[in-house]
This record gives sequence, C-alpha cells and structure tokens, in this order.
Amino acid sequence: MTTPDALAGTDAMAAGAGSAAATADGAEPPPVPARIEAVQRLRLHAPVFISDLHLTSARPRTVERFLALLARLAGQGGELLILGDLFEIWAGDDLLGAAAPLEATAATDTAGGADDDAVGRAVAQALQRLAQAGTAVYIMHGNRDLLLGTRFLRDSGARLLADPCLAVIGADDAAAPILLSHGDAYCTLDLPYQAFRRQARDARVQESFLVRPLAERRAVLGQARLHSEAGKQRMAEQIMDVTPSAIDDALRAAGVHGLLHGHTHRPARHDFNLDGRAAARWVLPDWDLDGVPPRGGGLRWRDGALETFEA
Ligand code: MN
Repeated sequence: MTTPDALAGTDAMAAGAGSAAATADGAEPPPVPARIEAVQRLRLHAPVFISDLHLTSARPRTVERFLALLARLAGQGGELLILGDLFEIWAGDDLLGAAAPLEATAATDTAGGADDDAVGRAVAQALQRLAQAGTAVYIMHGNRDLLLGTRFLRDSGARLLADPCLAVIGADDAAAPILLSHGDAYCTLDLPYQAFRRQARDARVQESFLVRPLAERRAVLGQARLHSEAGKQRMAEQIMDVTPSAIDDALRAAGVHGLLHGHTHRPARHDFNLDGRAAARWVLPDWDLDGVPPRGGGLRWRDGALETFEA
C-alpha cells in the first residue's frame, strides 16, 4: 500500500536542489508553475468539464478524439475546463520551443520524447484556436502535468485554475457555487502519495528540477510514471479513491455542497448528506480511446443540469 514510485519521483525532483541556475544546454529554465497566480472563483455559463486525458503520442486515437472535441466545441461559446492530467507527462514548457537535439531525445526516450513534444505543441495550438473562436479555456494542474506553466498558458490561450476553485454555474444569481478540483488532494489514505504531492507542488522543488536539462527531466518523470503504474496495481481500492471525510472537510471549508473532480477514473455522481443538507460529488472519467473498451467523455451543462457525454 505504498507508492515508492512517487517517492522516487520526489527524490529525483529534489535531488537537483542547489544546482546552478542554468540548464546544461545553456537555455533559460522554464518559469515555476507553483508561483503562477491562478483563478480562484469563476462564473460559468455553458461549461464543458473534462480531465485525465493523459495525452501522449503513445495513444494517438485519444489525442485525435480530444482534438475532434475541440473542433466540435469551436464557435459554441461557453467554457472548456480541463481539470488536470491533460498530458501523461509534462517535463516543462521549454518542450514547446525548438525541437530538442536529436541525441538528447534518443538517449532518454522513456516517454515518447520528441513525439510527445509534438503532441504538446499541437494541443496548445488547438486550444488557442478554440479560445480564439470564443470559448473560454481553463486548465488545472493534475499530478502528471504540474509543470505546465506560463508559456503553455500563453500558447494555448488558457487560464490556470487554482485547485480547488469555486465556480457558479448558470445565469441565476442565487445559484450555489460548487468546488472544482483535480481530486488527488482528497486521496488522503495514500500517505506516501500525499508527501509526494506536497513536495512536487513546492515552488523551490520545481525550481531546482526545472534547471535540469529537458531530456533529463523527461526521463525522470517517465520513470516515476512507470513505477507509479506498477504501484497502483498493488494498492487497495479504498486507498486509491477519495476519503469521504476529506470531501466533507473540503466542502465545509468552502461553504458549499457540490464538488466536481477527476483523478480517480471512477466516473459517477454521488449524492449524500452533509450536515443535514443534500450534497453531490461528480467524478469525471479518464480517457483512453486506444484501450479496450475505449473510454472517455466528460460532463456538460445542459438545461440547468450537469449531464454526461461520450468522447
Ligand atoms: Mn491524476
């Protein structure tokens, strides 16, 4: 029931601390995402919620279907909210720049390397097109793509959401806000993961990691991901899911009775009672259109209610 993988990732990220403030290839390190100011509250009119797409060149149909969704949404207005883990791995915004040196990519290709960089660029461009067509695009960090930063936000036209943030849906001024989150913060029974989470979101840890060469960062995160997949297979179901009391605490702290999140890959609507009032928790599905059976989709606001849709 431990995730040594996640810890290995932390150690690897932390190991760069104190190194020189320039990457080995002399390029400026990308900005530190943990220092970016994020949106805390927002009003939504016609939101579409998705998360956990885990985009990578290794799953081309998933990438294709995501791009198809963006094309469908174009011109419809409203808002697209990506609640974390848009990418399988994000090693830093500098991957959006000029193509990495060939030898650097080949030597450390544990996670797609240059092909994944191309996916990152294509996705940023497609989001930019959607934003220009009049849909407000919001993105939240997940646990896989915590290093998405200012360059990605600029290239994609997206705004960064704080985790959690508060959203009011609809035009009704009396509408109750709900909490939006990636969801990993509520998996409190997985103590090693929570330790990793705190570290990985620490600005100084990110800063010291981002000064390392891109190819090295990619390799470290690729390794951490492989270990994490192996760790999950051994872990009890209960530990992998959110803790009900953590959900209650978060709702009470925010003064709301609704929560929408991803991360657990267990799409559902849970209705429950919180302090004598009806409460609801919506969980988004993950995407894998290359798997069997293929899956993907999200939640959208239609006629005053949230409904599911297929990818
Ligand atoms: Mn996640």
